[in-house]
Amino acid sequence: MKRALALVLVFVLTACGVTGAPSRDAQGADTFEDDVRTARQLTESFWKQQFQALGRPYRPITAFVPYSGRSGPRCAGEPPVPNNAFYCPAGHFIAYDRDWMEGLWNQMGDGSVYLIIPHEFGHAVQAQLQADFALNVQAELQADCYAGGTLSALIKAGALRAEPGDEEELFLNLAAAGDPTDDWLNPAAHGTAEQRQQAFATGYNRGVGAC
Ligand SMILES: [Zn+2]
Repeated sequence: MKRALALVLVFVLTACGVTGAPSRDAQGADTFEDDVRTARQLTESFWKQQFQALGRPYRPITAFVPYSGRSGPRCAGEPPVPNNAFYCPAGHFIAYDRDWMEGLWNQMGDGSVYLIIPHEFGHAVQAQLQADFALNVQAELQADCYAGGTLSALIKAGALRAEPGDEEELFLNLAAAGDPTDDWLNPAAHGTAEQRQQAFATGYNRGVGAC
């Protein structure tokens, strides 16, 4: 119903298209599931290294759960919201509406998956680093920043690569990154498109340390 608004945030970055090293766009072989799995693995290994470098233990998420509509894992008693992805602090898990995310993947390419998943992992990281972790605009923008920093680090490390032939623009769509209790299209909950774009760009250009 509000799907059109899901496209509000389009990041125009300097370099090229971001695609997974095994890329649907580049090789035509990656499935949605491949991209989801790759995004999860790369993001988690990135954060493991970051924590190691800080001498802190990293606590892997307990589960990574696809759901459909309202039938999915509850978070602190609340049912999941359709067309959403979220981190649940109560169970330290990430869940995503599989149909919705696959729809984005089909419409907009794999960039959507490589943005949403690192954003949610950003919350899982916040929960480990912040004693008073709470979801609010500030936390959402920091998660966007973490997502940008994660992606640029993975590109620099060669784990992801920028797609040749796409020099002029990289469109990363931050379509989503909702959370169980808020309206993910509501700027009061996640920040405006400009704020989110800026937060993402800060992480992308300066790394997660700048977030
Ligand atoms: Zn979020």
